[in-house]
Amino acid sequence: MARAYSIEEQLTWDELPAELPPEQLEAEAGTAPDEAVMPPPAATPQPAAEPGEPVFNSAQYGATTPPWSAAHAYTNLHPPKNPTTATVVGNFNCTEAGFENQTHHIVLDFGAMPFPVLEGQSIGIIAPGTDANGKTHFARQYSIASPRNGERPGYNNISLTVKRVREDHQGKPVHGVCSNYVCDLKVGDKVQVVGPFGASFLMPNHPKSHIVMICTGTGSAPMRAMTEWRRRLRKSGKFEGGKLMLFFGARTQQELPYFGPLQTLPKDFIDINFAFSRTPGQPKRYVQDVMRERKADLAAMLKDGQSHFYVCGLKSMEEGVMLALRDVAVEAGLDWDSVGASLKREGRMHLETY
Ligand SMILES: Cc1cc2nc3c(=O)[nH]c(=O)nc-3n(C[C@H](O)[C@H](O)[C@H](O)COP(=O)(O)OP(=O)(O)OC[C@H]3O[C@@H](n4cnc5c(N)ncnc54)[C@H](O)[C@@H]3O)c2cc1C
Repeated sequence: MARAYSIEEQLTWDELPAELPPEQLEAEAGTAPDEAVMPPPAATPQPAAEPGEPVFNSAQYGATTPPWSAAHAYTNLHPPKNPTTATVVGNFNCTEAGFENQTHHIVLDFGAMPFPVLEGQSIGIIAPGTDANGKTHFARQYSIASPRNGERPGYNNISLTVKRVREDHQGKPVHGVCSNYVCDLKVGDKVQVVGPFGASFLMPNHPKSHIVMICTGTGSAPMRAMTEWRRRLRKSGKFEGGKLMLFFGARTQQELPYFGPLQTLPKDFIDINFAFSRTPGQPKRYVQDVMRERKADLAAMLKDGQSHFYVCGLKSMEEGVMLALRDVAVEAGLDWDSVGASLKREGRMHLETY
C-alpha cells in the first residue's frame, strides 16, 4: 500500500510534491515477504478470515497525528527542487558482520545550514547522475537514527542506518542506486539532501509516557534515535520515567544493526527482545513470535493510555505485528476495535514500513 501524506505534511506544502515514481510505489507495496526477516506464510499460521469477514488491514491502525506531547516537527525545509548539501563525517560498521556487510551507519554534517530534526523523521538523498530516462534520480528516504541534538550532541549532524539493496523484494539481483551510493560514501564527500520529512511518527515528551518499539533491520533507525534521546535525558537527570520496550528482528545476531551498543544499555532503562530468524541450529523466531511470548507485558502496555507504539521495517512485517497485538489484546479481555481506534485517534500507534 502506498503511503498517504498526513494533513500536517500537506499543510506545509507551497506546491504539490513530486509524484512518487513507480519503482518506489512498487517497493512500498512490497508484496513478497522477505524470507530474511519475515516468516514464510506457513511458519506463523494466522487465523484465516471467515467467508464474508473483512480481511485484516493492518494499515488502518496507523495514526496520522503525532502524540499530543510531541515537539513541533519542521518539514520540507529543503524541498526536492531545492536540496541542501551535507558533508559526510562518518561511515561506520554497525553490525558484527563487519564493514563490508550490507548495513552502514552514516553521519552527515550540515555545517551552518539549519536542519532541525526530531526522532522519527526522515530525510531524502539524491544520488548523483541520472536514471535510465536521463532524469535526475528521485530522492530516496532514510530515517534519521540520531536524536534531535545531533549524532554528536551539540553538533549540526545526523546519522542514518542504510542497508545496501543487492536484491529486489523478489530476491532477484539488483544494484540499488541510492543505498549503494550512500554505503560507498567517504568522509569529506558532499551529498544532496532534501527534507526533513514526517510529522506524525514522533515520540511523546510527557513524563511517564511509555514507548514500545517494534522493528526489523534498518527499521531500527528511528528506534535508535528515540532511545538515545531518552538515554541522554536520563544521563542529564531530566528523564521523568516511562518504560521503553524494544522488539528487534534480524536474520542473525551478526546482521542486527547496533547489537553491541544495545548490550550496554541498562536493563532498568530498556527492555530488549531480539528475534533471529536464521541462527544455525535454532528455530526461526520473528518479532511477532517474541511479542506473543511477552503478552502479559504487552497487554499491560495496551491497557495504559500512556503507551505509544512504533513499528518500522519491512512492509511485510506490518500485518504479523498488528495481528500479534490484536491477539494479545483479545486474550487479555480487551476490545481490540476500541483499543485500536484509540491508539490511532490519540496518535499512539505509528507504522512506517517500506
Ligand atoms: C519512510 C521511509 C524510510 C526509509 N528508511 C530507510 C532506512 O532508514 N534505511 C534504509 O536502508 N532504507 C530505508 N528506506 C528505503 C529507501 O528509501 C530505499 O528505498 C532503499 O534504500 C532502496 O533504494 P535504492 O535506490 O538503493 O534502490 P532502487 O534502485 O530504488 O531499487 C532497486 C530495486 O530494488 C528494489 N528495492 C527497493 N528497496 C528495497 C529494499 N529495501 N529491499 C529490497 N528491495 C528493494 C526496488 O523495487 C528495485 O527493484 C526507507 C523508505 C521509506 C519510504
